[in-house]
Amino acid sequence: MQQDAIKNVVIAGGGTAGWMTAAAFGKLFGKNIKVTLVESDAIPTVGVGEATIPTLHLFHDLLKINEADFMAATNATFKLGIKFDDWYKKQQSYIHSFGHFNHGCWAAGFQHFWLRGKNVNIASEIGDYCPEHLACRLGKFATAPKQERNHAFHLDAGLYAKFLRNIAQQCGVKRIEGKINTVNLDEDNGFIQSLILDNGQHIVGDLFIDCTGFRGVLIEQTLHTGYEDWSHWLPCDSAVAVQTELLGNSVPYTRSIAHDAGWQWQIPLQNRMGNGLVFCSKYISDEDAKTQLLANIQGKTLNTPRVIKFKTGVRRKLWNKNCVAIGLAGGFIEPLESTSIHLIQQSIIRLMQSLPTKRMDPAIIDRFNTSMRGEIDNIRDFIILHYHATARKDSAFWRYCQNIPIPETLRARMEQFAQSAHVYQGSGELFGEASWLQVMLGQGIMPNSYHPIVDLMSEQELIEFLATIKSQTSRRVSSLPDHLDFIRHYCKSP
Ligand code: FAD
Repeated sequence: MQQDAIKNVVIAGGGTAGWMTAAAFGKLFGKNIKVTLVESDAIPTVGVGEATIPTLHLFHDLLKINEADFMAATNATFKLGIKFDDWYKKQQSYIHSFGHFNHGCWAAGFQHFWLRGKNVNIASEIGDYCPEHLACRLGKFATAPKQERNHAFHLDAGLYAKFLRNIAQQCGVKRIEGKINTVNLDEDNGFIQSLILDNGQHIVGDLFIDCTGFRGVLIEQTLHTGYEDWSHWLPCDSAVAVQTELLGNSVPYTRSIAHDAGWQWQIPLQNRMGNGLVFCSKYISDEDAKTQLLANIQGKTLNTPRVIKFKTGVRRKLWNKNCVAIGLAGGFIEPLESTSIHLIQQSIIRLMQSLPTKRMDPAIIDRFNTSMRGEIDNIRDFIILHYHATARKDSAFWRYCQNIPIPETLRARMEQFAQSAHVYQGSGELFGEASWLQVMLGQGIMPNSYHPIVDLMSEQELIEFLATIKSQTSRRVSSLPDHLDFIRHYCKSP
C-alpha cells in the first residue's frame, strides 16, 4: 500500500447517511481501509426519509443488494412517481412519473407532437402515452429488465438503516456507541485528528465523514464551514410526521397534497402509511399544522406526531479539509421530490471515486464540491418550480410563493418551455426532460408553439400516431399485475 494512502475512515453518525456510507465503504474498500462508525443511542435519527427515486438502483447494484430481500427487510413498496394534488389549482392533480416519452423524433421530443394534437383536440392527457404514468393511475406494477427500470421505492427508514448496518458489519465495519464530545484538530493545518467520546475514548482517523444530521458536529460545530440559506426561495422550514395503519391498497406512487401553508405527504409501505405535513412557520403554527395533518389522515395513528425544524440550504463546502459532510449534515432541500437519499448516494459514490491520499489534494476537493453543488442547484430549481408556477391565490403562503424572485437558471428554463416547448437539459442533471415536462405542464405552463417538424405530418397521420402509442401503452399496462399482489409474490420468491 502507498505510504500516504487513506487507511482509516471514521463515520460520525448512524442514520440513513451514516449506514449508507458505512455499507458502501465496508463492501467496496473494507479489505484495505479500516472503517469505524460512531453513533449515539441518546441522539435519535431524524426518522423520516422514506420515499426514493430510481437512481437508488445504482447504489444497490454497487453493493450487490438483492431487490426482493431489500424490500422484504424494509417493508418497501414500489414507487413509479408522485401525484400532486391541488398544487396548480385546487381540485386539479397531475402525476410526475419516472417514465419517459420516447416517441419523438431526432429533432423534437414527443411533447411537440402531443401539443399539436392537443391544439386540435385529438390528444388526451400526456400521461396516457407513458406506461409508468398510466400504471400509477391504475395501481399496476411489474419489474422491468435492468436497462428499463424506472421504478423507485417507499421504504421504512429505520429498517433500511438496520439492513445497511447488517451489510456494513458483515464487511468488517466497526460500530462504536457513544456521544462525540470533542473534536481534536491538528494545530498546524486544522485537519481533524480524532473524535473524543463522552466516556473519554479517542477515535483517530485519516478521513472523517460527518453524518451527524442537522447538527453537523464536525463540518459546522468544529470546522465552521458556513451554510448558504435558501429559505428566501423555499420558505418551508418545518414538518410534522406521523405514521398510520394502512387502509386499502398501497398505491405505487407518493402523494403530495398542497394545503394552505405547505403540503402533505402520504408514503404507503407494505404495512403502514407514512404521513407528514411540510409547512412554513410564518403562515401556520406547529399546533395548527399538527391539527391540520391529523384532520387529513385516515386510519389509526401508530405514533405521536413529531415536529421537525429545518433550514433549507447547503453547506458552503461539503468537503472541507479532511471532513466530508453527507446527508443532513451537508444541507437539506425539502422532500418534495425525494432527493435527499439520492444526494447521499451521489456524495458517497463521488467520494469513493475521488478517494484522496492523506494529503487531501485541493484540486480533488474542489472538483467534488463543484460537481455536488451543480447537482444540488439543479434540484433546488426543480423544487422551486412547483411552488412558483401556481395559480393559487387563496392563501398568503401561495401568494408569497408566486412572487418569489426565482433563480435566473429556472426563469430561463420556464420561459423557453413556455415559448417553444423545448426543455433545456444540461449534462449530468438528475431530472431529465420527461420530469421537467410533466411538472411544467402540471403546474400550468402550456407552451405557445411547437417544433415545425411536427407539421410535416398530415392530421390523419398524427391521429394514427397518437392513437397507436396510446393503445400500446394501455395494452401493456392493463396486462400488469396489481401492485400489492406483485409485491406479495415478489418478496416471497426464493
Ligand atoms: P440523522 O438521521 O439525523 O442521523 C444523525 C446521526 O448522527 C444519528 O445516528 C445520531 O445518533 C448521530 N449523532 C448526532 N450527533 C452525534 C454526536 N454528538 N455523537 C454521536 N452521534 C451523533 N429524504 C428522502 O430521500 N426522501 C424522503 O421522502 C425524505 N423525507 C424527509 C422528510 C423530512 C421532514 C425530513 C426532515 C427529511 C426527509 N428526507 C427525505 C431526508 C432524509 O430523512 C435524510 O436525508 C436521511 O434520513 C439522512 O439523515 P442523516 O443520516 O443525515 O441524519
